[in-house]
Amino acid sequence: MPSFVIAEKCDGCKALDKTACQYICPNDLMVLEPESKKAYNQEPEQCWECYNCVKICPQQAVEVRHYADIMPLGSSTIPLRGTDSIMWTIKFRDGKTLKRFKFPIRTTAEGSVDCFKGKNLPTADDLKKPGFFTMAARTE
Ligand code: SF4
Ligand code: SF4
Repeated sequence: MPSFVIAEKCDGCKALDKTACQYICPNDLMVLEPESKKAYNQEPEQCWECYNCVKICPQQAVEVRHYADIMPLGSSTIPLRGTDSIMWTIKFRDGKTLKRFKFPIRTTAEGSVDCFKGKNLPTADDLKKPGFFTMAARTE
């Protein structure tokens, strides 16, 4: 099921240079229409269905839709992302039936992870060496 931007909800990330959905899409599918300042998925058939854009959109403007040749339009899958959980609202194609599923998405407090903790900050010379930053010697 590819992603689909609800134009009424999209604010174009307030017309920033690169919108959240453009930033996160691994396949560069999201485009900001220059006049309306609304995003859209330019090639739904190329969508990896990773749902990164769905989850990152601050306006909850990206939903998930089945292809029209599989089932009639009218059903949708919409996320509501919180700091510790995500709620998916499934609307059936009869337009009336709604089901909601809530799942935890993390076990630590948001913003509490220090990804550089215990690592030496890299220098420009380190770029010439083989290996990965995460393999650097720990300082503690
Ligand atoms: S992240 Fe959401 S609000 Fe921002 S441009 Fe994309 S669809 Fe619109
Ligand atoms: S679901 Fe993934 S691949 Fe598809 S448009 Fe969104 S970020 Fe890109």
